[in-house]
Amino acid sequence: MCIFCKIVAGELPSYKVYEDDKTLAFLDIKPTSLGHILVVSKIHYANLEEIAEEDLSALILTVKKLGAKLKNKLGVSGYNIIVNNDPVSGQEIPHIHFHLIPRSKEDSFSSWPKISYAPGEADKILKQLIS
Ligand code: AMP
Ligand code: ZN
Repeated sequence: MCIFCKIVAGELPSYKVYEDDKTLAFLDIKPTSLGHILVVSKIHYANLEEIAEEDLSALILTVKKLGAKLKNKLGVSGYNIIVNNDPVSGQEIPHIHFHLIPRSKEDSFSSWPKISYAPGEADKILKQLIS
């Protein structure tokens, strides 16, 4: 059983923020910022490709609820919603989860790189994507 399944089953402790029949949300134990929340599906799915649509719908609705809570209860002015999908993207726990990461003007998180397409490259990628 994975770590998040153990938390869902109550076999490992967590700082539980929210629960309904399909989803569970708890504080990340090593937060990027204070109030960093993880939202998990109660059913184990590895990633976005595996999760059933109804469970994904429930998951994103819980993300929405908790985003509002971050603003209303913790007074954060905005937050990042991140899904690390598969190990190559940084996913360490192979159980789909959304991160809600409170942001502030004062934080110093670096931004994602921005590269440029070489001539013809965007067309090539687009053809592959829509074929
Ligand atoms: P990811 O890299 O997207 O798989 O994120 C996994 C997250 O789970 C990391 O941010 C960890 O800090 C967090 N984490 C790992 N174990 C626990 C735990 N027992 N309780 C709460 N958060 C955890
Ligand atoms: Zn699991």
